[in-house]
Amino acid sequence: MLTTDARVHGGNDGYDDETAVSHTWDNTVPHHAEPRQGDQIVLWDKERLLGVSAISQIQKGSAEKDRHRCPKCGGTKFKARATKHPRYRCGNGNRDCREQFQRPDTEPIPVTTYQADYAAYWVDLLDRATGSELRAICASPLSQHSPPLFEISARPSRRRTPARARAFVEAF
Ligand SMILES: [Zn+2]
Repeated sequence: MLTTDARVHGGNDGYDDETAVSHTWDNTVPHHAEPRQGDQIVLWDKERLLGVSAISQIQKGSAEKDRHRCPKCGGTKFKARATKHPRYRCGNGNRDCREQFQRPDTEPIPVTTYQADYAAYWVDLLDRATGSELRAICASPLSQHSPPLFEISARPSRRRTPARARAFVEAF
């Protein structure tokens, strides 16, 4: 269902070509199983609207990805620090761990992957709405932990202010 038309639209200098075609995530992100074929979606980069579309299919697969852990407590809640050394500091409050370390432990974990294809219905709407306008009307974004290029909001009509969200998407 990929169309050359969508790739032309995606050549916009506001975002990468792939943005207008598909989005991939895995089961480590919140709401990972919610998007469904036929869902209307809103794509944004947290600052502004990129476009809207509808999902023509979702392909499930499996893969391995690295999970990083604090070497002392095994927790996954730690942050990279821009300038300090060592680079990471654990924030696992439950275990009272404040370990500082340069290199986290890393282990491969199996994940379920999802790829949503929506090139066929892509409508370029770069800069037509701001991030805060979108937050007010869309369902929870998928990708707090996925690549930060953009977020995908599935089924804007499901949660808050359904009528407004539907009107917004259908207005284009
Ligand atoms: Zn720790």
